[in-house]
Amino acid sequence: MGDPKKIIELLLEKYPKPKIELNFSNPLQLLVATILSAQCTDRKVNEVTKSLFKKYRRTEDYAEADPATLEKDLKGITFANRKAEQIVKACRILVEKHRGQVPDSMEALTELPGVGRKTANVVLGSAFGRPAIAVDTHVLRVSNRLGLVESKDPERVEEVLMREIPREKWTPVNLAMILHGRYTCKAKNPLCEECILYEECEWDEKERYRQRRKG
Ligand code: SF4
Repeated sequence: MGDPKKIIELLLEKYPKPKIELNFSNPLQLLVATILSAQCTDRKVNEVTKSLFKKYRRTEDYAEADPATLEKDLKGITFANRKAEQIVKACRILVEKHRGQVPDSMEALTELPGVGRKTANVVLGSAFGRPAIAVDTHVLRVSNRLGLVESKDPERVEEVLMREIPREKWTPVNLAMILHGRYTCKAKNPLCEECILYEECEWDEKERYRQRRKG
């Protein structure tokens, strides 16, 4: 296994103040943006939420919306139809059970349609500042390549990372890993030759990628 301590240190050195790349200014906005970001780029989501958040300001605005109208406001978002329905249903539950507020617990968040552990952890970590590890495709890939974990199961990966990373560093390390996966340890053509984690990484393809770029 790669040395978790060293990996954490290097990640936080490279990304000292890591931030989520979805734009938001309150928990409701982050919840909506995160639901929209499933299989969609953050850039597209930010483009759409720019006007969406002006039109839908309160939980009630989504809860009272016709899903078909909301879908039209999600132009360019993948699976807009399904996501519009999930957001309307989720916000109806927020109005009925939580006085329109986004709850700050894993249990209450994952009761909402379209909200799994990953989305809940994004909201807990970045909107509420709670220690949280959201395992998305980047975290899954980076932690496996580094040798921190050997599993394709997001829940198992979350469990192992929670054990290996000190609790107070869960959120920043998680966000740093996402950035690292997005810009360096990319799915195709990872930039191993310029990776700060090269020495710690256990991926058996890393040398090949490093040489390929050098050549
Ligand atoms: S050396 Fe390559 S595979 Fe390993 S973490 Fe860095 S970019 Fe990813």
